[in-house]
Amino acid sequence: MANPILLTTPSRSALMSRIRSINTAPEILVRSALHRMGFRFRLHYRRLPGKPDLVLPKFRTAIFVHGCFWHQHLGCTNARKPEANKAYWRPKLEANVSRFAAQTEELEKLGWTVRVIWECETKDSEKLRSLLLSFFSRSVSGTQRC
Ligand SMILES: [Zn+2]
Repeated sequence: MANPILLTTPSRSALMSRIRSINTAPEILVRSALHRMGFRFRLHYRRLPGKPDLVLPKFRTAIFVHGCFWHQHLGCTNARKPEANKAYWRPKLEANVSRFAAQTEELEKLGWTVRVIWECETKDSEKLRSLLLSFFSRSVSGTQRC
C-alpha cells in the first residue's frame, strides 16, 4: 500500500511561493531548527533597530535571515547582480547593504550580538543546525537544558 501522505505532500515550490513576503521559507527553516534545538526566541522584534527576524533575549542575540540576492551575499552565486537594468538594481542593492551595516552598528552599541544566516545556508538542515550551534556554543556546552 502506498503511503497516502507521500502522495498528497504539496510541492515545495508551491509552498514557498505562498509564504514569500514576510515569513520567507529560509526564515521558517531557521525558526524550526532553533525550535527543535530548544531555543526560545521572539519574532520580528520591532523595538530593536532593523526589526531582527529572530531575537534570543537570553543570549542577547539578534538573528537576521538574509536573502542572498537582496543583501548581496559576498561570493555567493545567488547574489550576482543582474546585467539588465543596472541603473535600477545597483543603488537599490547597495542601499540594502549599507542600511543593514548601520542597523548592525546600532544593535551592537546596544549590547546585542548580531548574526546573519544566509538563505543559501538554510538549504542543508544539518549544516544549518551546526551553524546555529556555533552561534551559541559557549552558552550551550556544559549546561544542562531543562
Ligand atoms: Zn548565499
